[in-house]
Amino acid sequence: MPSRDSEAIILRSYPLGEADRLVSFLSRAHGRMRGVAKGARRPKSRFGATLECCSYIRIWFYERETRDLVQITQCELQESFMSAFGNYEAGNTLSLLSEISESVLPEREPLDASFRLLLSTARAIQNSRQTALPAAYFALWTMRLSGWLPALDRCARCGENLTGKQGYAAHARSGLWCQNCRKPGMSIISGAALDAARPMLSEGLQVLLERNPPLAAQELRELTKFLLNGIEHQIERKLTTRAFMIADRMELKV
Ligand SMILES: [Zn+2]
Repeated sequence: MPSRDSEAIILRSYPLGEADRLVSFLSRAHGRMRGVAKGARRPKSRFGATLECCSYIRIWFYERETRDLVQITQCELQESFMSAFGNYEAGNTLSLLSEISESVLPEREPLDASFRLLLSTARAIQNSRQTALPAAYFALWTMRLSGWLPALDRCARCGENLTGKQGYAAHARSGLWCQNCRKPGMSIISGAALDAARPMLSEGLQVLLERNPPLAAQELRELTKFLLNGIEHQIERKLTTRAFMIADRMELKV
């Protein structure tokens, strides 16, 4: 089989047998894939540090006819995010981004916008050491690119304008409901958190990071919690790295 190559971002890698690693990666040209890096656990492996979470690499691999897993032959590091992992919040947020990408993106479907979103968000975390805004931005755009983001400015039931008002939701996919339409058990999302989401739909992450005054961390975390609930509803399971996020240690107002 012919060898292929692509830009890629490492999502995760796991020990496989005595000497190998099983690697989940998002390739720009071929979409999300999994492969085996033979000998990657040996001390003087040719893969070096290229297989760390979120590493931006050039990868060479070939397909094996009867297997789902590709054979990874070579990786070349373009950009490492290891220094961000030295910071607890930044490292946890990068792990969350990679878990979301692995859970949400279909296999072997090139999605350039999702690739660029992951890379630009990881860079923003690495360079700014901020996590609240990048996490919210990534979750919002993951929902949007997947077609799961509800309208944030009107009630999904009666159409009332929600600008500046709080919304209610059973989960993010059901859309936001107004005060009059709300049902028991729906969680509330504040008007301020919804206001924080709106500029994210039109401005780039870098512009938002430089905004003065900045978007408030508390509203961003409330928004992230709402969006992660929506993602978990879609993938029908809990995100394991979410347990370490500050957003989740904060109680939602009721
Ligand atoms: Zn309504």
